[in-house]
Amino acid sequence: MVFDVRQLLAERRGENYELQSRFVNHQVPRVLHAIGFDKIYESADGCYLTDSEGDRYLDMLAGFGVFALGRNHPVVRKALHDLLDAGIADMVQFDAPLLAGLFAERLLAKAPGLNRVFFCNSGSEAIEAALKFARAATGRGRILYLDHAYHGLTAGALSVNGAPEFRKGFGPLLPDTVIPLGDLEALRRELKKGDIAALLVEPIQGKGVHIAPPGFLVAAQTELRQYGALLICDEVQSGIGRTGKFFAYQHDDVQPDIVTVAKALSGGYVPIGATMATQAVFDKVYSSMERVFVHASTFMGNAMAMTAGLATLSVVDDEGLVDNAEKTGRLLQESLRSLVDRYELLADVRGRGLMIGIEFGKPRSLKLRTGWSMLQAARRGLFAQMVVVPLFQRHHILTQVAGDHIDVIKLIPPLIASETEVNLFVEAFTHVMDDAHQGSGLIWDFGRILVKQAVKR
Ligand code: PMP
Repeated sequence: MVFDVRQLLAERRGENYELQSRFVNHQVPRVLHAIGFDKIYESADGCYLTDSEGDRYLDMLAGFGVFALGRNHPVVRKALHDLLDAGIADMVQFDAPLLAGLFAERLLAKAPGLNRVFFCNSGSEAIEAALKFARAATGRGRILYLDHAYHGLTAGALSVNGAPEFRKGFGPLLPDTVIPLGDLEALRRELKKGDIAALLVEPIQGKGVHIAPPGFLVAAQTELRQYGALLICDEVQSGIGRTGKFFAYQHDDVQPDIVTVAKALSGGYVPIGATMATQAVFDKVYSSMERVFVHASTFMGNAMAMTAGLATLSVVDDEGLVDNAEKTGRLLQESLRSLVDRYELLADVRGRGLMIGIEFGKPRSLKLRTGWSMLQAARRGLFAQMVVVPLFQRHHILTQVAGDHIDVIKLIPPLIASETEVNLFVEAFTHVMDDAHQGSGLIWDFGRILVKQAVKR
């Protein structure tokens, strides 16, 4: 029988969680069931998902930032169909693929000062390349990273991960060193030791949505240059327009030596990653003909990824998505910020463009403080979970808690989001906050279930 994916999907419809449970990560169905997120999604379009019951969900998570163009963007889809129909000779390996050259040319045009690209298949791989490139370029071994950083989970990337819960059980890792975000003194202290290859930063951290304080990146770069160390900006989540500039580092007057990109770069269709760097860095890594493949990967520059990437960049330009992220992001942030005075559990709204963090904090009134303290005592982050769940179950809006043990929700919707999506979100969020401020009712009942689960763990 000839393979037919549509037929297969129809025949095995509904077996999703059972198969995951038996053959993939068996904890995923357990967790999703516990919080009522165990839906079966059958189609998707733009900012919306549709489940097997026909219910529509507003997607404020965008596949962890992958679907900047919205889901199933027709331009990227057509480009991929066209490529498949062209029957080209892909991954010959001993050739120079045209699409990779074209995509590199187009991507580098967005990052003046960077001259070359290494293509790979994920954000973590882009980070691995950046770590190796920085070591090769400087002849030094240590990388500095920031508290709360997230750069992926492969062994090298894990060595520069600022969250202990991810590292536990996987050591020993690389001898890299964490410094607090914004702490120039700590940076200087480490640089003076003379063995630092680079500082690795997310201009806006995905975990907790923390922005480097004003002037930090510029001052850090001055220090780094003085000690012959490099600046690596991880734009895996914040790049491709998300923050209202093409790259988030472009909000500051800095010129990184290495920049990593992934996620949205191929419009959500094909795994992709890219590490851009200066000519000087590439000259050190690929320093002779013998070292031609000293850092390489089988699928780098494959035609599907390159085509999806070219189509994605052209959609970003044609649809003005960088400006839209700035405009819609400003509207969403302003609307949410105006609620901070109204709700005592709401502590802060921060972010850039469409990368937004909503932080909750200890309430003033006694009535709410008891519930808040109960949640905090069981596990930090439960209140944020208590908000994410009704947003999803009652209002059909998909969001996430922005990291373990923190009371911050992160919003990273598709960059095509408009006033309609802003209004939908703000209205739903207002309902959930109204409920939470009553100090009783369904939302707090759910809070008590979360506490029981946290205590059991
Ligand atoms: N860097 C950052 C800033 C990220 O947000 C992520 C993924 N969340 C990564 C690196 C790792 O990317 P991937 O999951 O594609 O390996």
